[in-house]
Amino acid sequence: MNKIIMINPIVEMNGDEMTRIIWSLIKENLILPFIDLKTEYYDLGLNHRNDTNDEVTVECANAIKKYKIGVKCATITPNAQRMTEYNLKSMWKSPNGTIREILDGTVFREPIIVKNIIPTVSCWKKPIIIARHAYGDVYSAREFRVKYPGYLNVEYLQENGEKQKIQGFDFDSEGIIQILHNKDTSITSFARSCFNFALDRKMDLWFSTKDTISKKYDHHFKDIFYHIYSNEYIDKFKQAGIEYFYTLIDDAVARAVRSEGGFIWALKNYDGDVMSDMVSSAFGSLAMMTSVLVSPNNQYEYEAAHGTVTRHYYKYLKGEKTSTNPIATIFAWTGALRKRGEMDNIKELENFSDMLEESCIDAIQEGYITKDLQNLIKSDKITVMDTESFIMNIRNRLKEKMI
Ligand code: NAP
Ligand code: MG
Repeated sequence: MNKIIMINPIVEMNGDEMTRIIWSLIKENLILPFIDLKTEYYDLGLNHRNDTNDEVTVECANAIKKYKIGVKCATITPNAQRMTEYNLKSMWKSPNGTIREILDGTVFREPIIVKNIIPTVSCWKKPIIIARHAYGDVYSAREFRVKYPGYLNVEYLQENGEKQKIQGFDFDSEGIIQILHNKDTSITSFARSCFNFALDRKMDLWFSTKDTISKKYDHHFKDIFYHIYSNEYIDKFKQAGIEYFYTLIDDAVARAVRSEGGFIWALKNYDGDVMSDMVSSAFGSLAMMTSVLVSPNNQYEYEAAHGTVTRHYYKYLKGEKTSTNPIATIFAWTGALRKRGEMDNIKELENFSDMLEESCIDAIQEGYITKDLQNLIKSDKITVMDTESFIMNIRNRLKEKMI
């Protein structure tokens, strides 16, 4: 069998712990036998981030800007305990946060659907993709505890020296204050990423906020979305046969639960954080959830939604077998390779990605699974496998399809 030839590389970002082990197994067994793989490789493992003073993270984000497509393994975000475990020079920032800042993107999270995992919401037949704005609001709020009666004075000082006074608040007792902000540039990028993603996937796009109550803040999000949609996307959406629609968040929640799924749901930062956990749990498992960061300039970074699965890694280090689910990491690879195929017009790469995904889904639907799915699967006969045997099972299926 001839290997599939690539034209341009994808940016490959290796990571940490159990997912780093899975990364090698996937490459060795599911990718390299079939593709003459071209990647620009960056090691985002914590040791190498530490050795390079985290410059490697900035370099790989710039490489994604250049090559437009990246695939990332899960990485450790260091905390106090990791400082001693890895003897770190500094508590380096989350690589995902750094990459997101540089690419200015939106995170899309999508559950992988298999027939024998029944969603908790029984009418959900198709995936619901959460598009989460990943900047501002409560995540960068200023908070203040009020201890005495008094008056809150708010003033905005413009660069030219002019001041704008905002109506404050009278405190007759103790209380709390929170100040939120967001930026038009970031909201605009968020909107464009959502519209582009909807066109790419040919799926309807919903957007919801609480604009009836938040008449300036949330309403501004709604206005920016509408402005961009009506100026740049309305015709493209018509041509693609898809719809953009805005509704209040309460209404969106009620509609989502009654729906069949099959749409993209754009949400502000906090709403997206909460709803993505709701959606992933209702669809089954974090290990079956993919994640892609899409920039407004159509740069794509694919990864699994879960972390480095530390608990399994410590077992692995002791020489014990693990049963870690590689599906979301495999789908990160297929997402990146399919997109490379689309951009470079290599049909074989797109077909390969389809076949590898089908092999994964077939395995699970026939009851060959990892331990995390054991209690979710509705099958008469299930075989719980260790990490390597599960990947070999997928490999054998893929080989048959590729002949
Ligand atoms: P985690 O790695 O997602 O794992 C949490 C638990 O979920 C695991 O212990 C395991 O449960 C289950 N799980 C997750 N993925 C699984 C898989 N593929 N197969 C089977 N079970 C799976 O989260 P964490 O333990 O909170 O974080 C570990 C490290 O990952 C941290 O250092 C964190 O900074 C990092 N992290 C990175 C990313 C990223 O790079 N995108 C995201 C989140 C966290 P059981 O132990 O019960 O089997
Ligand atoms: Mg969360």
